[in-house]
Amino acid sequence: MHEEAIIITCPNCGAKNRVPKSRVNDRPVCGKCKTPLKISTTNNRPILLTEATFRTEVLSFAGVVLIDCWAPWCGPCHMVSPIVEQIASEYAGRIKVGKIDIDQNPTIASQFQIQSIPTLLIFKNGKLVDRLIGALPKNEIEKRLIPIL
Ligand SMILES: [Zn+2]
Repeated sequence: MHEEAIIITCPNCGAKNRVPKSRVNDRPVCGKCKTPLKISTTNNRPILLTEATFRTEVLSFAGVVLIDCWAPWCGPCHMVSPIVEQIASEYAGRIKVGKIDIDQNPTIASQFQIQSIPTLLIFKNGKLVDRLIGALPKNEIEKRLIPIL
């Protein structure tokens, strides 16, 4: 019996570390050399992004990031939210998934011209490559996401 885990290669010594999915948010360190392990791909839950973390988590990230731009008052956002959660779990290890509250982070909203929500942004290697507007079903989101992977 063991929990589902992801394998993270240590950036310092190259050791492969097995990290249970429930622990990926606990700042895991390398079992061999204690270097903090970088979660280069998503864990199984969307990460909460802010203006302060956007650059590091998204713009400096080598890989694909799917971002759910939402606000608490937005009804359709609550339809997309569970889909985004599902994608985060199913694509764990392949993409990073984040959520950003655009009311709390208006700079991001204006920088990426988010005029209506929900909007999903897809970044690859720090560049915005696609934008999905509205409450789309999961298969529509995957149709746009998969070719980018
Ligand atoms: Zn190490």
